[in-house]
Amino acid sequence: MSEIEIKCVQCGTQTREASDITLITTVEGREIVITRLTGTRCPTCGEEYVDAVSCEKVEELIKKFRKPNVIFKRKITTSGGRRVIGIPEEIDRALGKKENADIWLEGNKIVTEVY
Ligand SMILES: [Zn+2]
Repeated sequence: MSEIEIKCVQCGTQTREASDITLITTVEGREIVITRLTGTRCPTCGEEYVDAVSCEKVEELIKKFRKPNVIFKRKITTSGGRRVIGIPEEIDRALGKKENADIWLEGNKIVTEVY
């Protein structure tokens, strides 16, 4: 990193190596704060430049936040003329067998909030 000289895009000052860059980004409505990134920082205006290694780290983290930890595959069946999706037992248990649900659409996703 120290070999590469990066001039600040904002003010033209030579930037200095930094290993304490914090990046705040929003993934699917959740704000995530990524700390201790490496790159350079402008000593004059404070503009920060994340290096390639940290860029990859950020992308990986964002991917992790996008993907649900567990995906249950279910077939949509028909029961009494209605289309039905079974709630996976693990999810039902985790939610504490609550009885009310608000359901809405987000593109192709059926989102359910139980309470
Ligand atoms: Zn600057």
